[in-house]
Amino acid sequence: MPLVNILHMNHGDGESSYANNSFLQENVIRKVAPLLKSMIKGMAEKDVFDNCFMAADLGCSSSPNTLLVISNIIDAVEEVCHENSRKSPQFQVCLNDLSGNDFNKIFELLPDFFAKLEKEKGQNFGPCFVYGVPGSFYGRLFPNESLHLVHSTNSLHWLSQVPKGLESTSLNIYITKTSPPNVIQAYEKQFQLDFTKFLQMRSKEMVHGGRMVFTLTGRSIVDPTSDDCCSLWDLFAQSLIDMLEEGLVRESDIKSFNIPVYTPCEEQVKNIVKWEGSFSIDEMSGFKINWDPYDTDYTSTNSLNKLSHSHGKNTAKVIRALIEPLLSSHFGNSIIDVLFDKYGNHVARHLSNKKTRHFNMVVLLTKK
Ligand code: SAH
Repeated sequence: MPLVNILHMNHGDGESSYANNSFLQENVIRKVAPLLKSMIKGMAEKDVFDNCFMAADLGCSSSPNTLLVISNIIDAVEEVCHENSRKSPQFQVCLNDLSGNDFNKIFELLPDFFAKLEKEKGQNFGPCFVYGVPGSFYGRLFPNESLHLVHSTNSLHWLSQVPKGLESTSLNIYITKTSPPNVIQAYEKQFQLDFTKFLQMRSKEMVHGGRMVFTLTGRSIVDPTSDDCCSLWDLFAQSLIDMLEEGLVRESDIKSFNIPVYTPCEEQVKNIVKWEGSFSIDEMSGFKINWDPYDTDYTSTNSLNKLSHSHGKNTAKVIRALIEPLLSSHFGNSIIDVLFDKYGNHVARHLSNKKTRHFNMVVLLTKK
């Protein structure tokens, strides 16, 4: 089945839902907020928008994070308009994700969100119109030259499909230290194709001078087998192999499973943006974030401590909220609890020796 038909984060607001396990991603959104404000300031100075501000959050998923994004956009636009003695505009914010996304979860949160907006901003505010837009961001989603701002966090590392040519190769599920060059190239090529497509689509949909900010999970160094992108999936493959040894998973099922994610380095992203040609790069930066979003220790690189067990468990919850639907459709539901218990233990052991972190790439672009 095509990936776009099965990919979605865990629905609802249960224990394993994305809504309840997206604190890591929330941290990323909060980090991006000041950059968003400076971008919007630049847009106001160039009169890119007037009486209606059109924004889209691409890969919005089903957690309150996307409402935080809307608030951040509105706050920044209002503040900038106030500073420039401009009347603040109406807002149209489109929340996009694949059609399997739990849009209802977000829609349920909207009445309270609107009530809070009215309380904070008064009755003369906006109004702000929010729409759900199902579809792949690798295709067209909006009319020509309709968007002033595109926001996308924690989503663009998801590929449109598992790269071709990886089928039944090995027990790995992503690039690893021992991957042959063709595996590395297949992932790289798929990212190149997908990200180019993404830029081409947005270049049609955004107004001249429109801005885009996106973050994705990337890698901090050029080596595609670096720890900050690969260890997380190595440990996952190891958990599947444990289950194979216990007779709980079939070898052929592991061999045919590959994760449709790619973690590029800055150079690759920069080159594709330049080659595609529709956008200029205003800023690129990156920051590292602990695998366990509740781990606030950013001083020690090695943390040989008794907390690693809870770091393992918390990391496993983050990853489960992202990939459980993919795993269930491939391996069936019955393995999920055991698999993530094992994964949590592997992560705990890993983190007690080496504090590997996610690398988040932040990119700000202007539509030429
Ligand atoms: N932006 C949110 C959610 C990130 S999770 C946050 O920061 O909390 C990544 C989301 O990207 C998932 O909901 C996934 O379904 C979505 N996604 C992945 N590929 C996509 C595609 N091709 N088109 C639209 N959404 C996609």
